[in-house]
Amino acid sequence: MNFDYNLYRQEFPILERKINQKDLIYFDNAATTLKPKCMMEEMQKYYLMGAANIHRAVHTLGEEATLLYENSRKKVAQYIGAKKTEEIIFTKGTTEAMNLLATSLGLSFLKEGDEVLISQMEHHSNIVPWQLLREHRGIKLKIIPMNLKGEILIDEYKKMLGPQTKIVSVVWVSNSLGTINPIKEMIDLAHQNKSLFIVDAAQAVAHMKVDVTDLDCDFLAFSAHKIYGPTGLGVLYGKEKLLEKMPPYQGGGDMISSVTFEKTTFNTLPYKFEAGTPPIAEVISLKAALEFVEKIGLEAISQYEHTLLTHAENKMREIPGISIIGQAEKKASVLSFISEQVHPHDMGTFLDQEGIAIRTGHHCTQPVMNFFDIPATARASFCFYNTKEEIDFFIEKVKKCLEFFA
Ligand code: PMP
Repeated sequence: MNFDYNLYRQEFPILERKINQKDLIYFDNAATTLKPKCMMEEMQKYYLMGAANIHRAVHTLGEEATLLYENSRKKVAQYIGAKKTEEIIFTKGTTEAMNLLATSLGLSFLKEGDEVLISQMEHHSNIVPWQLLREHRGIKLKIIPMNLKGEILIDEYKKMLGPQTKIVSVVWVSNSLGTINPIKEMIDLAHQNKSLFIVDAAQAVAHMKVDVTDLDCDFLAFSAHKIYGPTGLGVLYGKEKLLEKMPPYQGGGDMISSVTFEKTTFNTLPYKFEAGTPPIAEVISLKAALEFVEKIGLEAISQYEHTLLTHAENKMREIPGISIIGQAEKKASVLSFISEQVHPHDMGTFLDQEGIAIRTGHHCTQPVMNFFDIPATARASFCFYNTKEEIDFFIEKVKKCLEFFA
């Protein structure tokens, strides 16, 4: 396939950097993606020439900032196929979105004995908030199992859905295995059971088309920094009729309609869930990041990334003593692996000397590591600015590393 990555690499000045006198090869995209100039320009423009707070001032700068902020909300709504901008809430990240749901939705609507289903491959941010809720509410947390390829066992999931199942919260794309879960099918099954469905789209959003209307999910969360946007910002989509019923998560400025010492009434959606001054520059610049992705085209991105993954996996399989962790039929561009001889941390440090940035550790998915009975993996995650040449260099250095530690 003809994908001109050079066209897009120019948007990322960091790719010109040398790390340990070598060209930087950035394979840690699942942790966070690099930032394009077009996104940073928007952020800089706001801080240098805008800088006013939103929703309050009548002066021109305030109005401009408010307009840019709300335009970004419109962009997000359109990007993920939400019907209304009121359904888009800005948070600090996927983690905060999950905490918002476990707190606001969980505390208000769940009672002792109700069940929340999550999967074996969840990120800690989709485990711990529910455990905190369990402490407060006495809910039951049930775990949908997976097989050794890293695929959810759908038949087991079907059996687990029952009258007590109030919420199902599942990751669309696993950050440590790369598995693409059959999320639409899982949502349909949950709805047949009258359960709500939350999608963790942190890893999905930059690699595949997200359409909340088509999915019919009740909630969906992602982080801006994983889609070429800034850190400290996330998005929670929720169906209006559900968000309307949910109480605020945090109190403060902007989320109120009126305040007296006796009683406070709350603002309308989405402001009810956005207490205090938000990360204005980040929200404004997210629009540029999303437009950048749209310009390249998600279809082209996912096809190209798939060729990178296949190339890397084929080469990796040829190396004796290496095992790939996560061999699902449907995978996004995440390659987790372990070696019989070398600890992932040593591998990561060795590769860093060659200018290659990969991730090592449990990737905030300790239950996945426990499942495979391993302490950690080395993980290379690719995106559209990566190349086959970079992968060949990486594979060569993985082999060198194994020789070095032999
Ligand atoms: N879910 C998944 C699948 C992730 O990969 C991550 C980030 N590694 C998160 C949730 C949490 O995202 P954040 O730290 O941006 O809140």
